[in-house]
Amino acid sequence: MTTQDSDFDAVVVGAGISGLYAVYKFRQRGMRVQGFESAEGVGGTWYHNRYPGARCDVESIDYSYSFDDQLQQEWTWTERFATQEEILRYLDHVADRHDLRSAYDFLTRVTSAVYDEKAGRWTVTTDTGKTITARFCILATGVLSATNKPDIPGRDTFAGESYHTGEWPHEPVDFAGKRVGVIGTGSSGIQAIPVIAEAADQVVVFQRSPNYSIPAGNRRLTDDVLAEVKANYAERRRLSRISGGGTPNSPHPKGAMEVDEAERTRVYDEWWQRGGYLFTKAFPDQMVSKAANDTARVYVEAKIREMVADPEVAEQLIPDDHPIGTKRIVTDTGYFQTYNRDNVTLVNLRRTPITEITASGVRTGEASYDLDILIFATGFDAMTGSLSRIDIRGRDGRALTAEWSAGPRTYLGLAVDGFPNMFILSGPGSPSVLANMVLMAEQHVDWVASCMDHLDSHEIATIEATREAADDWVAECNAKAAGTLFPTANSWYMGANIPGKPRVFMPYIGGFGNYNTICAEVAAAGYKGFALDGRAASADN
Ligand code: FAD
Ligand code: NAP
Repeated sequence: MTTQDSDFDAVVVGAGISGLYAVYKFRQRGMRVQGFESAEGVGGTWYHNRYPGARCDVESIDYSYSFDDQLQQEWTWTERFATQEEILRYLDHVADRHDLRSAYDFLTRVTSAVYDEKAGRWTVTTDTGKTITARFCILATGVLSATNKPDIPGRDTFAGESYHTGEWPHEPVDFAGKRVGVIGTGSSGIQAIPVIAEAADQVVVFQRSPNYSIPAGNRRLTDDVLAEVKANYAERRRLSRISGGGTPNSPHPKGAMEVDEAERTRVYDEWWQRGGYLFTKAFPDQMVSKAANDTARVYVEAKIREMVADPEVAEQLIPDDHPIGTKRIVTDTGYFQTYNRDNVTLVNLRRTPITEITASGVRTGEASYDLDILIFATGFDAMTGSLSRIDIRGRDGRALTAEWSAGPRTYLGLAVDGFPNMFILSGPGSPSVLANMVLMAEQHVDWVASCMDHLDSHEIATIEATREAADDWVAECNAKAAGTLFPTANSWYMGANIPGKPRVFMPYIGGFGNYNTICAEVAAAGYKGFALDGRAASADN
């Protein structure tokens, strides 16, 4: 068979943190790689989410690549939690530094990926009419990239400016003198609202569910801090890789219920000062024991009451429907204090739901709110949405969406039985969003690249998860989740934010370090749980 220009060793879909590193790594192996990205540039999440106030909630020094030590030493993060603009600048820099853009067709959406059993190759088609084939199909399409704009009556009739936080325009939005409505109080809404309130005439927040949010404690990084981090980066990364969440933070050695109240308060004070979502990790039993969780919840709720001047408003801002941390705790800057401003109004949709969106604004059961700008901070069809928007077909024309109709089924989050030589990066069944996603992406790509080395050195053409291994992994993911409080919340982790989506806890919650060990053991055992060229793996092949 002759090789054509349109035949590649690997196709990589997506130019976010995962896809960029995959292109780098595969090219290092001498592979011919074709990348596709629907956006005009690289950056993924950080390309699309340009809303005011957008920042990372994992510290910048950890939320950055580790594979290029020179880059790690040369790059200088300016703030503890970098802005979207700074992170995008960093990813643009990485793309230039390693010439990664040249692998990609931008403004090109992959519409289908079909496995050709006879040829043992994937045929990938795009919305620009291009078709290529590749031995490996790498889906780096993101777990928080398929935006969700809820089907509220009249949604598209609003005559003013309307934006989704996850598809924010490149041009600055001018809020001066404007009446702005924000629907949604997850991380995106909570980050954006204080910044918009500073600039706008009026802000109306439409809140369906209040969320736990903890001040970031953001600050500029001094030269001394950076010098120390850079001198100890290798150790910092080592600790991160064996940790539960991919950062060098570990909880108190004892459970919240094993220490007295004074010690508990001291620990919560300490983690409150550290700031942000890390608060989930103060005590090891916080996410498994309701009693332990209640102590964390009560601590944070008292803080909210301190920050909000109007006690009635404060009560409406305190969640009453989920244990703290079972929805991602938001990392904010001045969120609760924003409600002390005269130009900010909270509309509690639990009391008065939105009945419709009109040309002039939003109508609830009780009132009409005239607006100039309406912002949807309504989140994503998380974990599976970007995959289900592609027609992916494996052996016998089996559709991935059909295979996943009761919830995503993967082996290690990486592979799906019936879909040979296809790998998903940072997706469902992996620690994914429960870990620092930069190290998550590196771990996945490194594992896949080693797997390719193994196949090539043993002259094996295809690798495919076995059905049994996928079943066992799904059971393991479910068992791990069932041992925690997470399934009790109506979160996007559970698919609960999308009507009709199966209610399954999608990430693997056994810890990033444990997951790394499991993946390494699978490889060391000759890719246990995979079929190689159609035969069950053994330690000899
Ligand atoms: P993405 O960055 O989502 O990239 C996927 C890319 O694939 C996108 O550019 C998309 O356009 C493209 N794509 C999708 N489908 C197709 C298709 N069919 N054809 C072509 N292209 C396609 N995680 C953390 O660990 N720490 C944080 O602080 C953090 N902050 C976040 C803040 C926000 C606002 C959001 C939304 C998420 C945040 N996350 C954070 C999670 C974040 O998504 C990951 O950290 C990381 O950026 C994901 O990288 P990725 O490459 O896997 O996916
Ligand atoms: P989200 O957490 O899913 O929040 C969406 C919000 O929109 C919720 O308050 C939801 O209310 C509301 N909503 C949805 N449909 C609605 C409807 N029909 N009517 C009224 N309200 C509706 O989405 P997100 O804020 O974009 O965050 C998603 C994830 O991205 C985060 O959890 C985090 O992992 C990541 N992120 C991180 C950062 C960061 O700090 N680095 C920033 C942004 C995002 P209900 O809760 O009632 O459904």
